[in-house]
Amino acid sequence: MCIFCQIIEGTIPSYKVYEDDHVIAILDIAQVTYGHTLVIPKKHCNDILDADEETMAHIAKVLPMLSNKIVTSCKAKGSHIISNQGEISGQTVDHLHFHIVPRYKEDDAIIVKFNETNKPELSEVLKTING
Ligand code: 5GP
Ligand code: ZN
Repeated sequence: MCIFCQIIEGTIPSYKVYEDDHVIAILDIAQVTYGHTLVIPKKHCNDILDADEETMAHIAKVLPMLSNKIVTSCKAKGSHIISNQGEISGQTVDHLHFHIVPRYKEDDAIIVKFNETNKPELSEVLKTING
């Protein structure tokens, strides 16, 4: 059983920020910033591709509610909502989860930067994606 399933079952302790029938939200054990929280569906799925529609619809409801609650209560200025999909993107736990990482200042210990690399022909990219 994966580590998040064990947390959901209660065999591994956690600090629960929120719980309902479909998700739990717990403090990340490695707090990138104060209040860093993981939103985790109770039903195991590896990632977003593997999640059912009901689960995703529910997560879409819970994420804004929780990020607003965390940002407000922690007096943050904003947040990242991030879900790593696959090892290449940094996913280390193969049970779908969304990070809510509150932001306080420019040099918080998280860098999400979109660097433009080469300049592909956008019509080609579109063809690659849509066929
Ligand atoms: P990923 O790297 O897959 O996007 O995120 C996994 C997250 O799970 C990491 O930020 C890591 O700190 C957190 N994590 C791993 N094991 C535990 C644990 O046992 N308890 C809690 N609360 N968080 C964990
Ligand atoms: Zn699991």
